[in-house]
Amino acid sequence: MAPHDTILSAIGGTPLIRLARASEETGCTILGKAEFLNPGLSVKDRAALSIVRDAEARGLIRPGGTIVEGTAGNTGIGLALVAAVRGYRTVIVIPETQSDEKKQTLRLAGARLVEVPAVPFSNPNNYVHAARRLAEALAATEPAGAFFADQFDNVANRQAHIETTGPEIFTATGGTVDGFVCAAGTGGTLAGTAQALRALKPGVRIALSDPEGSALHAYYTDGALKAEGSSITEGIGQGRVTRNLEGFRPDHSYRIPDREALEHVFGLMRDEGLSLGGSSGVNVAGAVRLARELGPGHTIVTILCDGAARYASKLFNPAFLRERDLPVPSWLEGAAEALP
Ligand code: PMP
Repeated sequence: MAPHDTILSAIGGTPLIRLARASEETGCTILGKAEFLNPGLSVKDRAALSIVRDAEARGLIRPGGTIVEGTAGNTGIGLALVAAVRGYRTVIVIPETQSDEKKQTLRLAGARLVEVPAVPFSNPNNYVHAARRLAEALAATEPAGAFFADQFDNVANRQAHIETTGPEIFTATGGTVDGFVCAAGTGGTLAGTAQALRALKPGVRIALSDPEGSALHAYYTDGALKAEGSSITEGIGQGRVTRNLEGFRPDHSYRIPDREALEHVFGLMRDEGLSLGGSSGVNVAGAVRLARELGPGHTIVTILCDGAARYASKLFNPAFLRERDLPVPSWLEGAAEALP
């Protein structure tokens, strides 16, 4: 393999990994795309790189300029690494409820962090609106200007998945992919990958895997944006049709309770050596449901968005799980006592 010129060309090109138990239980081939192997350790590196390249091509960002974004964390980590290589500064507005691990990673990546209360999009203090206002203010005061990355409504995000994620899945399965399923935060991964796969493989089945507390499942099944319940997963779930979701419709939609998602997260860690975050669990649960709907013999691909290390204090913390009446796997609880 030729040396990479910068870390940026190591973004994408992630392997598909067969998920053994999910495949055996359904009689399908269920494959997870290992996005946690990206340099910033999540699927969002792809969107970050695409957004910055697009802004450069449009002349929206100048050398030494500041990139501002509102993010649950992973997009900010991707932006911070792209910015480091391309010579920009990064300011990240993050809801204070996001994991400390992600906040710490952002600081280590050189981003300046602004924590804001977690309030809905309809509230003007929501992190996305706060980031947009901050970008406007910095554009006037920073010598090299500022650029609002706007991942939810900037379709350079979706474009990354049209150009890379979708074609990679088609090629790596030798064109045998029958179904693709994932959750939506901005919707870039779902809508972009779906658009590419539908063009390459007419008839491919696309499914949304939605956490509780998100309005998209109701929207695609009943036509009304309606949210019920809540989820401990981060980075997924959406209360509106973002620009990245415009023009997109899934063929199937599933609402996945945390309990079902966590069973996959814990099982994949214990039995298959895959150390994953909560949104990957929602995705694998959705892949299993789609496999059951399509029947044995199909090839179904989903996204393994990021890794467990980003959530050690939450998903893998017995006290955190118990407080929310969620199952605590025995190996997580008794690991130390079990030693001689
Ligand atoms: N999983 C995680 C952990 C994320 O951070 C995100 C992005 N917020 C997603 C899934 C969803 O990806 P997208 O924004 O492309 O819908």
